[in-house]
Amino acid sequence: MRLLGRSRARNRAGLAAALARQLPPEALALSDVAKRAYERDGLDVAGGRPLAVVLPECAGQVADIVRECHRRGVPVVPRGAGTCRTGGAMPPEGSVVVSTTRMRRILDLDAVAGTIRVEAGVRNLAVSERARDSGWFYAPDPSSRRTCTIGGNIATNAGGAGALRHGVTVNHLASVTVILPDGEVATLGSAAHDAAGADIAALLCGAEGQLGIVTEATLRLTPRPPATRSLLVACESAGAAVDTALGILRLGIVPLQMDIMDREAVALCEAFSPSGYPDGAVLLVQIGGIPEELREAIERISNIAAVSTIATASEAEASLWRGREAYYGAAMRKGPFLALDCAVPLGDLAAGLAGARVLALSHGLDCATFAHATDGTIHAFIFHEGGDSGRRRGNACGDAIRVACARMGGTISSEYGIGMEKRALMTAQFTAEELALQRRVVDAFQGAGDFNPGKVLPPIAEAAE
Ligand SMILES: Cc1cc2nc3c(=O)[nH]c(=O)nc-3n(C[C@H](O)[C@H](O)[C@H](O)COP(=O)(O)OP(=O)(O)OC[C@H]3O[C@@H](n4cnc5c(N)ncnc54)[C@H](O)[C@@H]3O)c2cc1C
Repeated sequence: MRLLGRSRARNRAGLAAALARQLPPEALALSDVAKRAYERDGLDVAGGRPLAVVLPECAGQVADIVRECHRRGVPVVPRGAGTCRTGGAMPPEGSVVVSTTRMRRILDLDAVAGTIRVEAGVRNLAVSERARDSGWFYAPDPSSRRTCTIGGNIATNAGGAGALRHGVTVNHLASVTVILPDGEVATLGSAAHDAAGADIAALLCGAEGQLGIVTEATLRLTPRPPATRSLLVACESAGAAVDTALGILRLGIVPLQMDIMDREAVALCEAFSPSGYPDGAVLLVQIGGIPEELREAIERISNIAAVSTIATASEAEASLWRGREAYYGAAMRKGPFLALDCAVPLGDLAAGLAGARVLALSHGLDCATFAHATDGTIHAFIFHEGGDSGRRRGNACGDAIRVACARMGGTISSEYGIGMEKRALMTAQFTAEELALQRRVVDAFQGAGDFNPGKVLPPIAEAAE
């Protein structure tokens, strides 16, 4: 046992030197300051001190690094922009963090087929910016799109307000190149929409870096609608806003975005960034299509909803959504909080929103809620008094809301992923058999390797309980 420990220590000690021989100096960060900077991601809880942080420039370098780590039994932690809010990119002590942020070339845009080939470190928004003049855009739209990377998006199966109309990352991934945990290179997927065999590329979506490091992807683009309009609907309550949103869907209108803010969320955002929202709850709707269609859709929506504003010019649309988009800054100004991203089936959205409020009150905490009325995502902001005890109370309340969503047939995480933070809660959503099956998939990819350990899946003993 002791011999094994000593040889592992020797293996680790030699790793930095081996990496230094293989990589250009700018691709390797070994200083304490650099390592400390990569100890945490968007969760803002420190993980362990990595042995090294590497910033490769190409897939070949990633493969060399992974092979070297695999040979020496050193865990690897893939990382993009580090916006993950659940500790998914948080390294354990003695691991190697591989960040793809220097791999940011857009390799090819096929403006006829509507596909784009990019390196993993390309930012989400940069894809749409590159495709704009060709009449396409990249539909998966996480709120963090200015910063987060395509590799991180694939690993977390990122999505956003447009999920109902356009789907999430997995629906837009044509093919992907991945460095497997033993350093082998695999290209998975196909340009065809319905390729033969099991869709293994789709398995990478949501696996949070446990199955390998994505180095390159071909993404499917979506035609940009010729025109868009945004509407503001004043509502008595969040429940009434849900009814109106479901009514719009029943009209056969599938909006690009459709968000609900409850009374508390409106007050919070108006105090921070006034956008002229009325008191009470609001429903914000963005529709897209040809202008004649949009005129008719607005008429039909106005028949069932108290539309108070119709924004037609893009600046007016941006200013209508500004209040909603200021939610994070508004919450930060109010005080310490926990941000939740659970989801329920659309038909249960009103009950889910009401339930989140009741649970917050029963924990003695204040909350403001937003919802994507397209895919049932509930963003609850739970405000607490800060410090360890505040965080504990906030987390207990957040866990209770997540479990309640799972019991309603929803999910403990709709957008931010599971990471370290929520892995213990996986048992609220999955049976022991389902978790064992997920473990078998991870084991099939990892073999003896150790890739992003301590994420997503609960410890085996816990899952078996
Ligand atoms: C303000 C804010 C708003 C957000 N809004 C949304 C939202 O609307 N929707 C949403 O889905 N998410 C949202 N997120 C969460 C986060 O931005 C997404 O999960 C995003 O996809 C993470 O991308 P990243 O490049 O920052 O990855 P990281 O945070 O660096 O990593 C995330 C996970 O992906 C893995 N990973 C990263 N790169 C690779 C790679 N190349 N190969 C394999 N695995 C990799 C990591 O190991 C980790 O498990 C938000 C976050 C913030 C801070």
